[in-house]
Amino acid sequence: MRKARLGQMYLRLTAVYGPQQWWPAATSFEVIVGAYLTQNTSWKGVERSIQNLAAHGSLTIDGVRGLPDEELRQLIRPSGFMVRKAAALKAFVTLLDREYRGSLSQLAAEQPETARVKLLALPGVGPETADAILLYALGHPAMVVDEYLRRIVTRHRLLPAKATYSEIQALAIDALNESYPEGDRNAIVQHYNEFHALVVMVGKTHCGPTPKCDGCPLAEFLPISGPFLK
Ligand code: SF4
Repeated sequence: MRKARLGQMYLRLTAVYGPQQWWPAATSFEVIVGAYLTQNTSWKGVERSIQNLAAHGSLTIDGVRGLPDEELRQLIRPSGFMVRKAAALKAFVTLLDREYRGSLSQLAAEQPETARVKLLALPGVGPETADAILLYALGHPAMVVDEYLRRIVTRHRLLPAKATYSEIQALAIDALNESYPEGDRNAIVQHYNEFHALVVMVGKTHCGPTPKCDGCPLAEFLPISGPFLK
């Protein structure tokens, strides 16, 4: 029942907001830089960092590889945690160089499960960042779970407040199951892409730390009270 409910919520968001055309980036590497920089900060700061890197001619694998650490930190300063994030970006490029000849295409050709394990072993990469890279930069069917989705599924009593990343991910995967023909990988990627983008849209607009349910497209799905759905 909760799977069907989340599926209906996805349809409602699609109808209200329309195609989101994510990720907002010109290249796969820019997606990856954005996925790293967006942690614990607003997207505005990420945009300024990305603009700095682009203006410096460094928004490429070669560019990041060639930047001295301190210079990279200063360029990404607007997105915060610059020491940690600069080191994490450098570590990603080092992995790429060491195991994939510095090629994102070669990383994309890796088995997604293996690529996910390798990404998760890097500094600064948790499940959300790994899945965002797999989905939006490498084109794999990886379901991204973020704080907005956590709020939505717990506030709508689809899962308890302490649900794990994997539990939320499994529910979202199940909920979208009927949105695409079985085994159609491109369609799965497309729906996962849209789903996460729509969750961010409704989250930014309505489902922040304090929910603004009035006028939210998902308000009609709110349970008044009662147990969690099964
Ligand atoms: S703002 Fe309210 S109605 Fe909208 S998604 Fe959050 S909890 Fe649901």
